[in-house]
Amino acid sequence: MRVLITGGAGFLGSHLCDLFLQRGHQVIAMDNLITGNIRNIAHLAGNDNFTFIKQDVTEYIYIAGPVDAVLHFASPASPVDFIQFPIKILKVGALGTHKALGLCKAKGARFLLASTSEVYGDPLVHPQREDYWGNVNPIGIRGAYDEAKRFAEAMTMAYHRQHGIETRIVRIFNTYGPRMRLDDGRVVPNFVGQALRGEPLTVYGDGSQTRSFCYYADLIEGIYRLLMSDEVEPVNIGNPEEVSILRFAQLINEMTGNRAGIVFQPLPPNDPKLRRPDISKARRILNWEPKVSLEEGMRETIAYFKDRLEEAEG
Ligand code: UDP
Repeated sequence: MRVLITGGAGFLGSHLCDLFLQRGHQVIAMDNLITGNIRNIAHLAGNDNFTFIKQDVTEYIYIAGPVDAVLHFASPASPVDFIQFPIKILKVGALGTHKALGLCKAKGARFLLASTSEVYGDPLVHPQREDYWGNVNPIGIRGAYDEAKRFAEAMTMAYHRQHGIETRIVRIFNTYGPRMRLDDGRVVPNFVGQALRGEPLTVYGDGSQTRSFCYYADLIEGIYRLLMSDEVEPVNIGNPEEVSILRFAQLINEMTGNRAGIVFQPLPPNDPKLRRPDISKARRILNWEPKVSLEEGMRETIAYFKDRLEEAEG
């Protein structure tokens, strides 16, 4: 297959580039590098099966030759980005999804949308199943991201229904691992960065809110299987092992030997109180479930951030 991965220089996009190349496909990565980083794909320079195009996917996408699949992973995705780039997030979810689907229509390609657990908002149903419609505040600070992805899902289904495009929608839950930005503002890079610098970890609220963290390698395997399946409706991919943010902070301090402890800071507005995927659908139709434990994945992630910090300090 010849696949286009938008957001190909980002955290998940770049790992997907690697996976598709390893499995014998040709990959075109597209990224405007506002949150993606060229270092994530630098090791692919010189690979004949890999091409990089620096472009904003909200503009017309021109690709010469055949395209068999488009994986639309371009979007700033961290809560700090929700404040810094709300218009870019809305544009890439709306205009970018439209351009990527238009390309699929022109090339007869399959489309896979990177959607999110944020479509469930601050959920009133726990754990979250795909048939839950969500509890989203459209005008809150998370609204830009949540509504962009909800619109993107609607656009994807419209192209499927009206133009018969083969489409897939993955709802991604919290994912972590090497190639996350150290300054991305999400809980994993924040806590690990703080712990490695010997600073106290900043727990927002009382830390009783929960998340379920999936290691990137498990996640991209699930995405690959979804693309190859014939499931049109959304599928949750994530790790159902749920942990409170306070417990997670304690775990990072234990794993890094950080003695600076924890400080409590105000909880950002609309921060979801609970989040955990129901993955029975992925188990059933993709025969997929995560394999990497939180400790194992965090060991790799801590090692990665340690290298980045040492590099930054010269
Ligand atoms: N969080 C925290 N301290 C931090 C960063 C995040 O306590 O330094 C909390 C945040 O309030 C949320 C959870 O950790 O409840 C996960 O936050 P993240 O930014 O990773 O993404 P979210 O899952 O909220 O989209």
